[in-house]
Amino acid sequence: MDDSISALDFETCDAARLRRDAAFDGVFFIAVKSTKIYCRPVCRVRSPLRRNVEFYPSAAACEERGFRPCLRCRPETAPFSPAWNGTKSTVARAMKLLEKGALDELTVGALAEKLGVGERHLARLFKKHVGASPTTVAKTIRVQRAKRLLDETDLPMTEIAWRSGFQSLRRFNAVFRETYRRAPSEVRRALPE
Ligand SMILES: [Zn+2]
Repeated sequence: MDDSISALDFETCDAARLRRDAAFDGVFFIAVKSTKIYCRPVCRVRSPLRRNVEFYPSAAACEERGFRPCLRCRPETAPFSPAWNGTKSTVARAMKLLEKGALDELTVGALAEKLGVGERHLARLFKKHVGASPTTVAKTIRVQRAKRLLDETDLPMTEIAWRSGFQSLRRFNAVFRETYRRAPSEVRRALPE
């Protein structure tokens, strides 16, 4: 666990994932070092060994460290319930703006300005509470939106790319492949094991 991220207590998280506690769904994500996949605490896949797991407060934090989303528990469908949710904190306000696609149009500097903080301060807050930069969070939001559309609709790829906030189909394909190590079309066909 990275010391700079605000404390997710290892023992609490470890006990919660071993009993697949739904109360922690969305509160933390489990990054599995042996497979480089990350999961929700409620994942039905056999629990990995304790020495192979790390806990992070967001999907974006796992992705920033090179872990890819589990196709079975589908982290993109986890409830949005991080510890700072519902507060009036800068991070919570920033997350709301990112959800609305703020970084599709603004730079991180302009986003910080809108929030009334400096860009470096915003970066520090994100590192501490979310475990990832605002840019990674925005990217994760786009990919997650695309993944949900892939699973839940028959929309053509260009439409999915556009609705998810990507500027081009090529960019969508590249970012999706970087996240899932598979093309969008492969993930759409894939059934969970
Ligand atoms: Zn999983």
